[in-house]
Amino acid sequence: SGQFAGKSAVVTGGGSGIGKAVAVGLAAEGANVVVNDLKLEVAQSVVDEITAAGGTAVAIAGDVGNPDDVKAAVDKAVEEYGALHLAFNNAGIGGPQGLAEDIDIEGYRQLMDVNLHSVFYGLHFQLPQIVAAGGGAVVNTSSILGVTGDANALPYVAAKHGVAGMTKAAALSYAEKGVRINSVHPGYIDTPLLSGLPKDLYDGLVSKHPIGRLGQAEEVAELVLFLLSDKASYITGSQHLVDGGYTAQ
Ligand code: NAD
Repeated sequence: SGQFAGKSAVVTGGGSGIGKAVAVGLAAEGANVVVNDLKLEVAQSVVDEITAAGGTAVAIAGDVGNPDDVKAAVDKAVEEYGALHLAFNNAGIGGPQGLAEDIDIEGYRQLMDVNLHSVFYGLHFQLPQIVAAGGGAVVNTSSILGVTGDANALPYVAAKHGVAGMTKAAALSYAEKGVRINSVHPGYIDTPLLSGLPKDLYDGLVSKHPIGRLGQAEEVAELVLFLLSDKASYITGSQHLVDGGYTAQ
């Protein structure tokens, strides 16, 4: 039972943070979930948590910067659960920081592979399967930095704006095929992605959010689950902020 009963989903970067919260939330509402992460044991620990709670999920290791690995997660959903209806293209990393002239070219390329090209690979392999299943929905994780700039994070800003653009272009071409595609734009969320930050930088980030704290992964997951659900039946091609007021300033 649950609003996703009978649906199957792929979640990339599902081993931690926002992806984990969405994988757990989908399974709690009845979806069969393929949990991708770089390391099998990280994905498997989320699958174990889902299974212990009575849900259905399977782990797969893969690098979303590699198209073969993105395809493998889609194939896994079809093999295990017979079809694919939902996808959350979410895996991402923080990027090289600094002036354009100081950013290492290889670091730039790697960031674009993981944070942008991965979303194209996801759409490329997921959409035909979702259409074949009779329709469904995709959510891609962008960021507030897919809406605004940041002087020190040029590659990340570029990738996250690209995610928003791909989302719109794909949404237009799949709207009549029964697939809704949206992007979510979180403010700074208290996940392991930020765990390395020194306290003064962390406090500086908090002060940029009118709500006065960082967000929780579950607060982003609520929005993603809504967008993946039939309740969002008239929502496609749009950008959805969940940022504690960050971009209202
Ligand atoms: P996280 O580090 O907690 O989780 C990301 C997961 O993705 C990790 O388990 C990691 O192992 C996995 N991953 C990293 N590279 C991968 C790859 N190449 N292939 C497969 N898996 C990979 O981070 P999070 O905060 O949950 O971030 C999830 C997404 O949200 C990212 O796209 C990030 O850019 C975005 N985001 C995060 C924040 C934030 O403040 N935390 C804000 C806005 C957007």
